[in-house]
Amino acid sequence: MMILFYILLAIILLFIAFIGIKVLQLKSGRERADREIASAEIKKLTPFGSVKNLSVLPLIDFYAEKPTLKTEPGVSYLVSADDTKILLDVGFNTKKKHPSPLLHNMNELGVTPQDLNMIFISHAHLDHVGGMEDQKQKTFSFSRAPVDVPEIPAYTPVSLKPSKHNPKPVPHTINGPTVLKEGIASIGPIPRFLFLMGYTSEHALAVNVEGKGIVIIIGCGHQTIERIIERAQALFDEPIYAIIGGLHYPVHGGRIKLGPINLQHIVGSDKPPWRGLSEKDVQSAITAMNRVSPQIVSLSPHDSSDWSIDQFRQAFGDRYVDLKVGKEIRI
Ligand SMILES: [Zn+2]
Ligand SMILES: [Zn+2]
Repeated sequence: MMILFYILLAIILLFIAFIGIKVLQLKSGRERADREIASAEIKKLTPFGSVKNLSVLPLIDFYAEKPTLKTEPGVSYLVSADDTKILLDVGFNTKKKHPSPLLHNMNELGVTPQDLNMIFISHAHLDHVGGMEDQKQKTFSFSRAPVDVPEIPAYTPVSLKPSKHNPKPVPHTINGPTVLKEGIASIGPIPRFLFLMGYTSEHALAVNVEGKGIVIIIGCGHQTIERIIERAQALFDEPIYAIIGGLHYPVHGGRIKLGPINLQHIVGSDKPPWRGLSEKDVQSAITAMNRVSPQIVSLSPHDSSDWSIDQFRQAFGDRYVDLKVGKEIRI
């Protein structure tokens, strides 16, 4: 009986020590991220150019337009900017399947890897690079077996290697705001230190649509929308026309649960878990977005709860568009 007591005591003490170390790391990590953001030299991206037509077709996310399409708490969007087809992220593949949900949905929606001109990896978290194995190995995979993806550039916010499953795409690390092609840019990595995931560098895609303005397409949104807007305003003269993608608001619910624990609430925040993300954070995001009056807002359900989606829907009214696999958002 006594032994059991000591084992339990040791587990509790170890847990307290783990949380203590994490809280200390969080403090210094947040300071590092804030320092880097403050010291980044951000100049206007000119000449930037524009495109005439833009559409975003979600290939992977938590909700789908039709039951034949697969869903998961990850992201992959096909961004078509005039003739340039960009694949933003490659999904999660939670069950390590081949063909992956991404390949299944691409096939169902008539998209092939040969159509792609560019890959854009928002950040190196498992739900965006094709699974835990890719996160660990610092790669990105379309599936768990060979897929013939052409030799196209893959823009990443941290150094990633080619995957054995799709070895041809050529990774390029993006260190700051960069024009990728006429009218298409990375706003550059913005770091954030997350309680469990640690230092996370994420970039978002910006496309300038002629006569409309800047469309920002985001993976997980760990940067926070406030900082993404601040960065976009520093880079572009054009107004922000649309904000599409993940902003990470698993408030009153989440998509990845461990028993009663809302994992996304803990892993994706730069606050300790007992504070986590709150209703206030969602309201602050809506206020920041309202200030720039976007004409289209579409929140990814992969890392935001139905409650947060409802808040966005109420705040933006007919400017809010549901984000679902298979439902193309035309700008
Ligand atoms: Zn993430
Ligand atoms: Zn995510």
